[in-house]
Amino acid sequence: MSRIYAPTLWLILSLLPLSAVAEDRWQQHEWDVMGTRASVTLWAEQDAAPLFAALEAEMSRLNELLSPWIESSELARVNREAATSAQTVSADFYALLERSRHYYQLTDGAFDISFASAGHLYDYREGKAPDEPTLKAATRHIDARNIQLLPNHQVRFTDPGTVIDLGGIAKGYAIDQGIAILKQAGVTQAWLSLGGDSYVLGDHHGRPWTVGIQHPRDREAIAMRLPLIDTAMSTSGDYQRYFIKDGERIHHIISPDTGKSAGELVSVTILTDKSVDADALSTSVFVMGREKGLAMINRLPGTSVIIIDKRGEVYYSEDLAPAQ
Ligand code: ADP
Ligand code: MG
Repeated sequence: MSRIYAPTLWLILSLLPLSAVAEDRWQQHEWDVMGTRASVTLWAEQDAAPLFAALEAEMSRLNELLSPWIESSELARVNREAATSAQTVSADFYALLERSRHYYQLTDGAFDISFASAGHLYDYREGKAPDEPTLKAATRHIDARNIQLLPNHQVRFTDPGTVIDLGGIAKGYAIDQGIAILKQAGVTQAWLSLGGDSYVLGDHHGRPWTVGIQHPRDREAIAMRLPLIDTAMSTSGDYQRYFIKDGERIHHIISPDTGKSAGELVSVTILTDKSVDADALSTSVFVMGREKGLAMINRLPGTSVIIIDKRGEVYYSEDLAPAQ
């Protein structure tokens, strides 16, 4: 008996790993960019290494345009020079300025990239916040109307105290660019994430992807899992970059009215078609608070929100709310 079966068994065992490789072409890659962790999982017949390299290259390119920490970035140049003379910027940068202006108008000023006029005075890593008079003086320069968008991709500041930052929208834009690269290469199933922003393309093993919302007060825990297909998701939380001063949580989402951290909510998740919109809207609703934020999202077609407030209560936009 054993003489007959042993070779067969050996043959089956030796073939198993090969067939497993041929059938399962889910491939995964992670790297650091734009001050956070990027992660991609995708299904492809061929080796995905060139695709991963293309994603890395595109996100590095955007980082070099948009980073406030790179002196040679367009953002840094605009902040240095745009109050003196109109600055010509790339199509990517200009598109983000236009999208930001759109959200400034839609949110009644809650989304304002000139928040950085006061926001740049905080150092979350060092735990530093400006004193009251300094903050008050800087907050007077928060006003997106001081950012003039001119023809031929030019931008000018009408107030020399203006500082802009695209941290509330740039990662979403980078994800949209990345998903476009994947689609062009024929990828139909992928999950691409950058910090709190992600996009799921197609499905996963014939079922929706399961995407988790991080628990706002427990790094290891997931607050909620959502089944998603072809959806952009962005979470803004007060736990990403913060420090505690005199018992108060000082974090990186700033109310343009006060120059201080927006205090009502702890986590806002937006679901919509494009990541650039999900990103801007999660920051916006965080600033607007529950009532105004829910009202705005309920008016926007194809857009949903999940809000967690300070007491841990969860609120949903009308399209997600459980039937009464
Ligand atoms: P992250 O994924 O970096 O945590 P969020 O989508 O939560 O990003 O947005 C936070 C970032 O948005 C901040 O780091 C800052 O760069 C920017 N930001 C903060 N307040 C505002 C505001 N009122 N309007 C526009 N952008 C803002
Ligand atoms: Mg955002």
